[in-house]
Amino acid sequence: MTAASDMLAVAVEEARTGLAEGGIPIGAALFDGDGRLLGRGHNRRVQDGDASMHAETSAFRDAGRQRGYRGTTMVTTLSPCWYCSGLVRQFGISNVLIGEATTFHGGHDWLAEHGVGITVVEDPACIEMMTRFIAEQPELWFEDIGQD
Ligand SMILES: [Zn+2]
Repeated sequence: MTAASDMLAVAVEEARTGLAEGGIPIGAALFDGDGRLLGRGHNRRVQDGDASMHAETSAFRDAGRQRGYRGTTMVTTLSPCWYCSGLVRQFGISNVLIGEATTFHGGHDWLAEHGVGITVVEDPACIEMMTRFIAEQPELWFEDIGQD
């Protein structure tokens, strides 16, 4: 098994890569039930000009075809939006490990109500990264969450 902190570290590394690319600093990674990394990625809205390329979708696509998702854990630096929460339910991903839900409260309560194992770390580094990003690039952030 891979420790939660080690799994979150992969997502944070992805978020920092996205930030360095001039993008939105949200990272994600998908692990199987044994803690093996299946896929990793970050939000690519800016980089790809693609509003549907969220961190979770990016990691999910990086994992390629899987026969099933039972036992898998989606790790994300930020509480998943409705779109990504929908992805988790659609494919039956068992657990979601969330870096923080302070700067954005997405669909994780809804996921928990439907039996998905939810862990919110409230990691100070994740909170700091998003807080700084939202302060520096509010227009890009509000575009990403579909608010104006
Ligand atoms: Zn999303």
